[in-house]
Amino acid sequence: MGKKRSKRPLTPEEVASLKEQLLKKKEELWEEIRSELKGRVSEEYQELLENVKDEEELAQIDLEEEVILGVLEARKSELEAISQALWRIERGEYGKCLECGDWICIERLKVRPWASYCLDCKERLEMIKKAAGSNQRWQRSIP
Ligand SMILES: [Zn+2]
Repeated sequence: MGKKRSKRPLTPEEVASLKEQLLKKKEELWEEIRSELKGRVSEEYQELLENVKDEEELAQIDLEEEVILGVLEARKSELEAISQALWRIERGEYGKCLECGDWICIERLKVRPWASYCLDCKERLEMIKKAAGSNQRWQRSIP
């Protein structure tokens, strides 16, 4: 608490290195997705899956939707966060908190380059979410 964080714009070098990290993480996720899919489909699909690296390419393979969704679902939020971060880099908006507009500190981005909120906002949003969640449970339990 009260710890001073460095809030400043990212340098082009920092953005470039974080982008590299994002692309690497995306590649890792797709590596997992490919190998998991391969474990679930028949031989004729194995070769087709070899080069798949995004959802568009995956959609072109005629797999059962249920199989795809099962494998993608677990990584959906991570994949989405990564592609949104890459999109923000393209637009030159990367590194700013979506909630308060402040710069997200570089230490946080180095650990989670796909982060879209500064630590303060993230903590606040999580608390709100938690409170809303428990409220819903409470409401449901009313007969
Ligand atoms: Zn913020």
